[in-house]
Amino acid sequence: MSRPGEGRPVVCLDLDRTVIYSAAALALDGPDELAPRLLCVEVYRAAPLSFMTERAAQVYGRLTGEAHVVPTTTRTRAQLGRVRLPGPPAPFAVAANGGHLLVDGVPDPGWAALVRRRLADVAPIAEVRTHLDQVAGPFVRTLRDADELFAYAVVDRDALPAGWVDDLAGWCAPRGWRVSLQGRKVYAVPVPLTKSAAAQEVRARCGGGTLFAAGDSLLDTDLLETADVAVRPAHGELADTGWRRPHLTVTTTRGVAAGEELLDILVGQVISTRFSVSGNLGAGA
Ligand SMILES: [Mg+2]
Repeated sequence: MSRPGEGRPVVCLDLDRTVIYSAAALALDGPDELAPRLLCVEVYRAAPLSFMTERAAQVYGRLTGEAHVVPTTTRTRAQLGRVRLPGPPAPFAVAANGGHLLVDGVPDPGWAALVRRRLADVAPIAEVRTHLDQVAGPFVRTLRDADELFAYAVVDRDALPAGWVDDLAGWCAPRGWRVSLQGRKVYAVPVPLTKSAAAQEVRARCGGGTLFAAGDSLLDTDLLETADVAVRPAHGELADTGWRRPHLTVTTTRGVAAGEELLDILVGQVISTRFSVSGNLGAGA
């Protein structure tokens, strides 16, 4: 667990619906004239796709001044490459749910080899894809492999049959895979492919400082569990199940406002941890 003071803090941030938000996920429920100004941080096919509030972008910049900030996402490398977060490129980033550890934007070959060894213990992606092809109904709009590491389906949520996701999860479990439903996407991911393993690797390489994390979905559970200090928004898969832990703070706001709030919380926690560490060291000196 925590070894505060041994290195600069590491902050692992899930991106989608945690730090950045599509138009459908903004949840701007107040009067239009009071809506926050938004910064577009992702363009896809020449159209704006993901946003954060302008103020969240400022707070993100401040956080990068206080800690190693590590984008930690289930996005593929290409999908992550489209995201233009504030400030200079992150020295470390995690893509494909831990499948890639990017160092200055380049996949770390040692990490890739470790991931390949771990994935040899579970069903191959081809078997899962075949099953998905068989059970996909007209409610499945697209089926994709992500960097040959996991699979996901883009679905029509309104037409998704009750129990379909649970049935898929039941089929996946004995094969060493798990399922997560996020917005319009159903992910099937090998159990050994975790954000937490990659986050711990980054933390070790950064000197073993306190690990902070934020995330909103089931695929973030292990990351939030392994962190010393965790935050989640009041929306998303984890909010839907009321997931809480003693070291976890939950935002009071939802949607893009929660993205801003959780960055504020993290800056405050990073700073207070630093002061409590120096205070403890002072008391012991
Ligand atoms: Mg997310």
